[in-house]
Amino acid sequence: MKLNLQLFAVPFRRTSKTKKRMRRTHLKKEVGAICSCPKCGASLRPHRACSKCGYYKNEDVLKIQTEEENA
Ligand SMILES: [Zn+2]
Repeated sequence: MKLNLQLFAVPFRRTSKTKKRMRRTHLKKEVGAICSCPKCGASLRPHRACSKCGYYKNEDVLKIQTEEENA
Protein backbone atom coordinates (compact mmCIF):
# COMPACT_ATOMS: atom_id res chain seq x y z
CA MET A 1 0.00 0.00 0.00
CA LYS A 2 1.40 3.36 -1.01
CA LEU A 3 0.74 6.25 1.36
CA ASN A 4 0.40 9.64 -0.33
CA LEU A 5 1.19 11.87 2.63
CA GLN A 6 1.71 15.59 2.35
CA LEU A 7 4.07 16.98 4.97
CA PHE A 8 3.82 20.48 6.28
CA ALA A 9 6.11 22.59 8.44
CA VAL A 10 5.14 22.10 12.07
CA PRO A 11 6.36 24.12 15.07
CA PHE A 12 9.05 22.23 16.90
CA ARG A 13 7.57 23.06 20.28
CA ARG A 14 4.75 25.02 21.82
CA THR A 15 5.44 28.76 22.27
CA SER A 16 5.72 29.42 26.00
CA LYS A 17 3.51 31.96 27.77
CA THR A 18 6.52 34.20 28.33
CA LYS A 19 7.64 34.12 24.69
CA LYS A 20 4.11 34.78 23.48
CA ARG A 21 3.68 37.71 25.88
CA MET A 22 7.12 39.12 25.02
CA ARG A 23 6.18 39.09 21.32
CA ARG A 24 2.82 40.76 22.01
CA THR A 25 4.26 43.66 24.00
CA HIS A 26 4.52 45.47 20.66
CA LEU A 27 0.89 44.75 19.74
CA LYS A 28 -1.04 47.57 21.32
CA LYS A 29 -3.39 50.26 20.23
CA GLU A 30 -1.88 53.71 20.00
CA VAL A 31 -3.52 56.49 21.92
CA GLY A 32 -4.31 59.46 19.70
CA ALA A 33 -3.35 63.03 20.52
CA ILE A 34 -5.62 64.69 23.09
CA CYS A 35 -5.76 68.34 24.11
CA SER A 36 -8.22 70.31 26.21
CA CYS A 37 -10.74 72.97 25.24
CA PRO A 38 -9.45 76.42 26.31
CA LYS A 39 -13.03 77.55 27.07
CA CYS A 40 -14.62 74.68 29.00
CA GLY A 41 -11.66 72.35 29.62
CA ALA A 42 -13.21 69.26 28.02
CA SER A 43 -10.73 66.86 26.41
CA LEU A 44 -10.84 66.71 22.61
CA ARG A 45 -8.78 65.91 19.52
CA PRO A 46 -6.63 68.78 18.18
CA HIS A 47 -7.91 70.86 15.23
CA ARG A 48 -11.53 70.00 16.00
CA ALA A 49 -14.37 72.05 17.41
CA CYS A 50 -15.28 71.27 21.00
CA SER A 51 -18.28 68.93 21.17
CA LYS A 52 -19.29 70.27 24.60
CA CYS A 53 -19.39 74.01 23.91
CA GLY A 54 -18.79 74.30 20.13
CA TYR A 55 -15.73 76.50 20.56
CA TYR A 56 -12.94 76.62 17.95
CA LYS A 57 -10.32 79.29 17.15
CA ASN A 58 -11.74 82.04 19.41
CA GLU A 59 -15.33 81.71 18.24
CA ASP A 60 -18.37 79.49 18.77
CA VAL A 61 -18.58 77.59 15.47
CA LEU A 62 -21.21 75.06 16.59
CA LYS A 63 -24.57 75.69 18.18
CA ILE A 64 -24.77 73.26 21.08
CA GLN A 65 -28.20 72.79 22.63
CA THR A 66 -28.14 72.74 26.41
CA GLU A 67 -30.57 70.80 28.57
CA GLU A 68 -32.30 74.06 29.57
CA GLU A 69 -33.09 74.85 25.93
CA ASN A 70 -34.48 71.37 25.31
CA ALA A 71 -36.80 71.47 28.35
ZN1 LIG B 1 -15.33 73.44 25.10
